[in-house]
Amino acid sequence: MPNAAPQTFQFQAEIKQLLDIVVHSLYTEKEIFVRELVSNASDALEKLRHLRLTEKAVYDDRLDLEINITTDDKAKTFTIQDFGLGMTQAELVENLGTIAHSGSQAFLKALGEGDQKAAGLIGQFGVGFYSAFMVAKTVRVYTHSWRESEQGLLWSSDGTGSFAIEESSGERRGCKVVLDLKDECSEFSQEWRIREVLERYSAFVSFPVNLNGKRINTVQALWLRGKNEIKEEEYDEFYKYQAHDSEKPRMRLHFSADAPISINALVFVPKENTEKMGLARLEPSVALYCRKVMIDARPKDLLPEWLRFLKGVVDSEDLPLNISRETMQDRSLVEKLNRVITKRFLKFLDEEAKNRAEAYAEFYREFGVYLKEGAALDFAHKEQLTKLLRFESSLTDKGKTTSFPDYASRMGPDQKEIYYLVGPNREAIEAGPYLEGFRARNLEVLFCYETVDEYVMNSVREFDGKKITAADHADVKLSEQPRAEGALGEAETKALVGWLKDCLGERVADVKASARLVDSPALALNADKIMSPHMRRLMRAMNKDGAPSPLRVNLEVNPCHAVIKRLSELRSSAPDKAKLVAEQILDNALISAGLLDDASGMVKRLYKILESV
Ligand code: ADP
Ligand code: MG
Repeated sequence: MPNAAPQTFQFQAEIKQLLDIVVHSLYTEKEIFVRELVSNASDALEKLRHLRLTEKAVYDDRLDLEINITTDDKAKTFTIQDFGLGMTQAELVENLGTIAHSGSQAFLKALGEGDQKAAGLIGQFGVGFYSAFMVAKTVRVYTHSWRESEQGLLWSSDGTGSFAIEESSGERRGCKVVLDLKDECSEFSQEWRIREVLERYSAFVSFPVNLNGKRINTVQALWLRGKNEIKEEEYDEFYKYQAHDSEKPRMRLHFSADAPISINALVFVPKENTEKMGLARLEPSVALYCRKVMIDARPKDLLPEWLRFLKGVVDSEDLPLNISRETMQDRSLVEKLNRVITKRFLKFLDEEAKNRAEAYAEFYREFGVYLKEGAALDFAHKEQLTKLLRFESSLTDKGKTTSFPDYASRMGPDQKEIYYLVGPNREAIEAGPYLEGFRARNLEVLFCYETVDEYVMNSVREFDGKKITAADHADVKLSEQPRAEGALGEAETKALVGWLKDCLGERVADVKASARLVDSPALALNADKIMSPHMRRLMRAMNKDGAPSPLRVNLEVNPCHAVIKRLSELRSSAPDKAKLVAEQILDNALISAGLLDDASGMVKRLYKILESV
């Protein structure tokens, strides 16, 4: 029971931080507060509609489910009232005083760094309500919960450190939010200005919206209309409203199907991937409807995890209307929807890739990471997803990519495997010793620059019956090339290799004359089947202090290279020096492979070699 006198509460620290930024926000599109408050009102009505399915006693039960907005340009106020489920005192404290959302920290950070894009996305992070403080000096929330035993309350704050709650008599069910506008934001107390904002998206609100007593929307479900009747702008505005985004979508798929289940779906890919921007992991946000009535705004299993970047609406007549979000008992229906939408979306991407390669490439740069995740983890769709992956390769130009099907079509009759190399960028891979042997034999190698790529390649494992293999793996067998002129003879090479093995001892698993090398004297191959060089680098980066496991590599030397030929001579003429050179060659090969754990011994040795020059 609240006291009759106002009680003051401190905002949670994160909210204080958020408010501090929002209150002083220079964000230009301040009108998004309208969208956020309407969206909250609509959510509240939606929740009440669900409640009514099970609750008999609802306060003020005869009120219509509608949203009333009023402007007063004399008093400079903006008011929005809904007859939704309202809030109790505890709910006010919980919902309008703390952040429950796990991603808010990253969002705050982006906001604090002045990220304008982040400001427009405020509604995606469960803090849309606070956008009111971009335009208001004070915000008052009058409310009465749907529970009959509660009383009317007033929540108020000026957006500095605290808010107050007091009793307020005569409240209707739901919430009435009153904004006292800042002087520079008084435009939002003008009817024409609010009408302009509302006209753009209020048609997508599932409840009547009235402005100063006049109905301004006819409720219509865009996704149920024919594609040909819908204007581009309508699609864009629907997306912006539904996804809480201030930018247009990047891609859109609007389709319907009757079998195996009835579906009307309208889904969008946003312009930007907020996970990539460093913001929180996305949560499913394709809403589930049944005949225009929302069942769940964030259904968990409607789509596979890797499609969590999609926004939009799926409507199915086959769902039972009284299905509740908590007990979506009929899993098989949701699974069917999942299968149909995923299949359709994959087909859509495939067509985009074929017909609009540029746009697909841009999409891939932003969202490709989800396709990789799917290819690695979603067994049911692995094949289609693998086809959609793109990589640069030794045959593409810088910045251009190729696909597994294209790679396969270029494979010669003798090539059995698909090769790839992992490296930070094209230059690093091209400068390393691993590529030259493949180049010399006209074998294409895919270039992987992302941290996840190695994991993805290992999980995907094969394409079209062809094994996917790391080109720097010790097991890779390359065809014999004719011995180049001036190379060490066979016997000399054999002797040198035997000597190197003795000389390098524990540090090498094996030494061989190489078939892969053309321009480099030596290379180190990974003898460790479990941990690749790239993974080793990652492990070391993550665990800086941990002693790395002892490393043993396969060393391959190039019998055509001047350094190796010289070493072969040195072996008999100056054995001590030859030993130093051998160690140095191994260390250089480890550096190229990114595997040298500690360079201090190497530097000392190098000075010793230089002394004798
Ligand atoms: P979100 O809507 O993403 O949860 P908001 O910051 O917009 O985040 O709102 C925070 C919470 O405040 C909502 O989840 C809801 O519980 C509560 N709330 C906001 N507006 C209303 C309203 N008009 N009626 C009832 N509850 C509301
Ligand atoms: Mg909201």
